[in-house]
Amino acid sequence: MLANKTAVVTGSTSGIGLGCARAFAAKGANVVINGLGDADEIEKTRAAIEVDFGVRCTYSPANMLKGDEIAAMIADADKEFGSVDILVNNAGIQYVSPVDEFPIEKWDAIIAINLSSAFHAIRAAVPGMKKNGWGRIINTASAHALVASPYKSAYVAAKHGIAGLTKTVALEVAQQGITVNAICPGYVWTPLVEAQIPDTMKARNMTEEQVKNDVMLAAQPTKQFVTIEQVAGYAVFLCSDDAASITGSILPIDGGWTAH
Ligand code: NAD
Repeated sequence: MLANKTAVVTGSTSGIGLGCARAFAAKGANVVINGLGDADEIEKTRAAIEVDFGVRCTYSPANMLKGDEIAAMIADADKEFGSVDILVNNAGIQYVSPVDEFPIEKWDAIIAINLSSAFHAIRAAVPGMKKNGWGRIINTASAHALVASPYKSAYVAAKHGIAGLTKTVALEVAQQGITVNAICPGYVWTPLVEAQIPDTMKARNMTEEQVKNDVMLAAQPTKQFVTIEQVAGYAVFLCSDDAASITGSILPIDGGWTAH
């Protein structure tokens, strides 16, 4: 389904991004993975995609804090593969703290990585997509693009921001074969979620089990974490011809969370 296409997935050395990269590769796309981590582990991850799916996979070390590195990542992918057809803006970090104690550098980093990096990547990728008359831009937002939770001011602001970016760019490129959507997962069991448990325990004075059941899954009526495979499957569907009329949409996959 995605043979001869190239997908760039930011923040794909783990979690949802890696799930998306592998799902695109399984459908025949060449992929560019990106993200932080141990160099040997990243190389294993990259090589496994090529071996498992018989596609080409490169790694970009672009730091999502830096606009020039993001633009270079897109330019390099274009040079290597001839086009960037699918862009998933997925890199993200989290920090949990009351707003009056929120470290300023954490606010700046979350806005840069979770929101501005998508702007830089879209800005660089859209000209090639316009030239080819086809493109798929998928922003990994969050249920927090639609609703808020306390102690996550930067994250919720960035995710609401990416919903606005998604709608705006969708309108701008609607007649050029390019769709732009935001996938909004509820809680997915990934390293990002695992890492926020200690801070939430501290902020709410709770045990680990209480955080999982009374904070995270309290909002999720299914009482199940969303799986990485479910999110990746949604991203693959958005790249299909059947999804060509879905654009500018803010799409929850959240076990009913935002139905509240
Ligand atoms: P994760 O921590 O497993 O993955 C985050 C990825 O971003 C990693 O590859 C990491 O290396 C990369 N990254 C972080 N900072 C970076 C930087 N400066 N430059 C380049 N890469 C950087 O987390 P995840 O849960 O898979 O999250 C992926 C996306 O999904 C995020 O945008 C997150 O907000 C969103 N999301 C996650 C959940 C969830 O419950 N896990 C829910 C809703 C939305």
